[in-house]
Amino acid sequence: MNPLLEVRDVSLSYHTPSGETKALSHISFDLMPGEFLAVVGPSGCGKSTLLNVICGLLRPEEGTVLMNGTPILKGDPRIGYMLQKDHLLEWRTVYKNVLLGLEIRKEITVDKLSYIENMLRIYGLDKFRSSRPSQLSGGMRQRAALIRTLALKPDLLLLDEPFSALDYQTRLNVSDDIGTILQKEKKPAILVTHDISEAISMADRVIILTKRPASVADIISIKLDIENRTPLSSRNAPDFKSYFNLIWKELNQNA
Ligand code: ADP
Ligand code: MG
Repeated sequence: MNPLLEVRDVSLSYHTPSGETKALSHISFDLMPGEFLAVVGPSGCGKSTLLNVICGLLRPEEGTVLMNGTPILKGDPRIGYMLQKDHLLEWRTVYKNVLLGLEIRKEITVDKLSYIENMLRIYGLDKFRSSRPSQLSGGMRQRAALIRTLALKPDLLLLDEPFSALDYQTRLNVSDDIGTILQKEKKPAILVTHDISEAISMADRVIILTKRPASVADIISIKLDIENRTPLSSRNAPDFKSYFNLIWKELNQNA
């Protein structure tokens, strides 16, 4: 099977009047179709920079990023991006917010509208379609942001610490929610997080980055012995703790 995404020997420095900041150093990894990758690393190591390179917002100084064998361009429709802030617009209803991406791209079709209807229903936002974002809970807002992104039918989803603005309890529920939705939609994703448990609970593989400039310290396959794995049930798997300890140790060795 060919990888969906190939990141090959990517390096990047920021150049500012006060000097050069090396952020990424010779990063390579693949993402296979249907795979969920998590990226963990110390704060400020270059995680967001890496996602910005993958989606084509930043050009690497060295190396290449290919999706299905072709380079990724700025604003590439094959990629959906979800950030910590949900960027829902208060002056639009939930429904109008969810439609926004399609509207901007002038891609509103009968098929896509019915896909949205279906997701609103399955994921419990149907009753809130006429509400304003401020009337929703933090978790519901993230769900709306996710549906807005999925409506564009991206081939790959990039998630940059999407739960870190939420309190712990909500965060567990929302990451379970979002993880289950992505499983159902069979959407490949790269989740950046500084939360080791979150990474293990959601991912097929965890990429551990070193401190800045980020390079790949290790890539760990997560194989948990549970049926119908979901992010929440993963946390109760017998091996969860040993993965946690392993990743914790490697993060500290490379911090
Ligand atoms: P992380 O997401 O892992 O916390 P970032 O990728 O945001 O880290 O940043 C990596 C490093 O690059 C940090 O030292 C940060 O200060 C620096 N940096 C990020 N964006 C810019 C920029 N636009 N210009 C200059 N330096 C930047
Ligand atoms: Mg960041």
